[in-house]
Amino acid sequence: VSGHRFFVQPNVFDPVETIFPVEISRQMNNVLRLKSGQMVTILDNRGKCRPVELVDIDPKQVTGRAGEIEPAGGEPSVELILGIALTQREKFEWILQKGCELGVREFHPLITSRTLVQETRGWDEKMTRWQKILQEAAEQCGRGLIPAITAPQKIENYLHQMGSLRGYILHEKVQQTGLAASLMDHLAKGERRFTLLVGPEGGFSPEEVTSAEQSGLLPVSLGKRILRMETAVLAACAVCMAVAGELGDFGSSDKNL
Ligand code: SAH
Repeated sequence: VSGHRFFVQPNVFDPVETIFPVEISRQMNNVLRLKSGQMVTILDNRGKCRPVELVDIDPKQVTGRAGEIEPAGGEPSVELILGIALTQREKFEWILQKGCELGVREFHPLITSRTLVQETRGWDEKMTRWQKILQEAAEQCGRGLIPAITAPQKIENYLHQMGSLRGYILHEKVQQTGLAASLMDHLAKGERRFTLLVGPEGGFSPEEVTSAEQSGLLPVSLGKRILRMETAVLAACAVCMAVAGELGDFGSSDKNL
């Protein structure tokens, strides 16, 4: 991963000439102050990338010469699907950015009985903003894909709609079952995709934990201290990625997994 990375639309991902759209051109000029001759990377958000040598730094339309198509890299070997209770704006956006860096594949914002926000409609503007945050984080940290995010939905609808799930619900009332050991067993069976639910400041209600269990999710602990939700999210993502061998050389970094 070197140089600036930009996710682009299919028409920009041309094998020969790269014609950058006006927003990226402006950013290259005004913010990044890139010069002709410099190399950047364009990504198709489908797992491929191309190196691009910048040719003409026009303030409204930067153009470049595209190189050979390559695997984009940057994606973890596991698909971590994060079901996360909605919370106040800044905290939620912070969670999206950090979760993206840690390798979360999909975010599913959830409305639970104890989230402050209970509104299921009118999220369009927020969704656009969240997607932008995820794209920027993905470009900055060298992901090969922009994590997907769904519109907020009530946890009961979510569980109903998803049917049977494989994964975990983080619950501070659980003592015996730890996340790391459970996930190790899961990965040892060759499964790559799993769901992780994290509750709001007030925690999950007992009914929500029961429904999650009925959907196939295992209630697991992150230890005896109660973590704030944003701490719990990042600690859990880090544990999962470490177990999967995706946070440096530790855990089951076996490439066959
Ligand atoms: N208000 C609750 C704590 C909620 S913490 C209480 O005081 O009991 C917010 C969320 O973080 C929880 O819903 C859970 O998903 C997660 N979490 C925090 N600490 C945890 C722990 N030690 N083990 C598992 N999950 C935890």
